[in-house]
Amino acid sequence: MGYPKALPAGFKISPHLVEIRLAEHKTIELLQAIAICKVLLPSALTPLRSSLNILAETRNASLHSLVPTIDTHKIESIAVLALKLYQLLKERGDLGYVDYKLTDRDNGLLSAHDQEAVERVRKKLAAAKLAAKKGREVDVSVDHDWQLLEVRCPVCESIGIAEGTTEPDSRDVPRSLIFWVDKFECEGCGLMLDDSDEIRLAGMEPGYERDDDLDRWERRNDIFNPED
Ligand SMILES: [Zn+2]
Repeated sequence: MGYPKALPAGFKISPHLVEIRLAEHKTIELLQAIAICKVLLPSALTPLRSSLNILAETRNASLHSLVPTIDTHKIESIAVLALKLYQLLKERGDLGYVDYKLTDRDNGLLSAHDQEAVERVRKKLAAAKLAAKKGREVDVSVDHDWQLLEVRCPVCESIGIAEGTTEPDSRDVPRSLIFWVDKFECEGCGLMLDDSDEIRLAGMEPGYERDDDLDRWERRNDIFNPED
C-alpha cells in the first residue's frame, strides 16, 4: 500500500510515517489481522491460506533478527499474495483512495505463477499415478490432532495425512468446524502436495468438515456452550 506510484499526486507520506513510528494509530498484530480476515472473507481467502502462512512465518522469523532462508518459490508466493490481496480489496471497494493499476510485469507474474503451479501438479499427479499402478494401498492414521487429518488420496485412494489448521466456520449457523488443508502426503503413491494451490489443482477439497470434533474443540478453547 506504500507503493509510491499508488499514492495520489501531492500526497505527503512523511507525516504518516512519523505517526506510525510514534504509535499514534492503533495497530494490530499481523497474525491477528490474518485471523480477522479469515473470519470476514473466508471463501476469498481460502486460496491464499498457504501464502498467508508463509508471510506470517517469515515475518515472525525476521522479527527475531533471524534471516529466514526462503526460497524463490516462497518470495514469489508473497509477491503474488500482495497482488491478489490488492485485487481482492480493490474489487470489494475497500481501497478507495489507492489507485494502483497492475502493470504488465504484475500480470505476467500472476499468470506465470498459476501456470507453474498447474504444470508442477500435473507432473506430481502423473508420477503418483505411475507409482500407484506398481504399489499397493497403504493407509496411515493419526491420533487425534488439530493440525493433522486423515484424508483419502485423490490418486490411489489410500488414506494419507493432511496438514493444516482446524477452525470454526463463522458463516454457518449452527456452528461447524472446518479443517483447512495446507499440505498432503500419501504413502501409497508418494503424492506430496505442498500448498493450498496444489491441493486445489489436484482436485482435493480445500477444507473438510470436522463437526464430530466440535464439542471437543469448544471445550479445549473454553467456548461457552449454552446447550451443555
Ligand atoms: Zn496416494
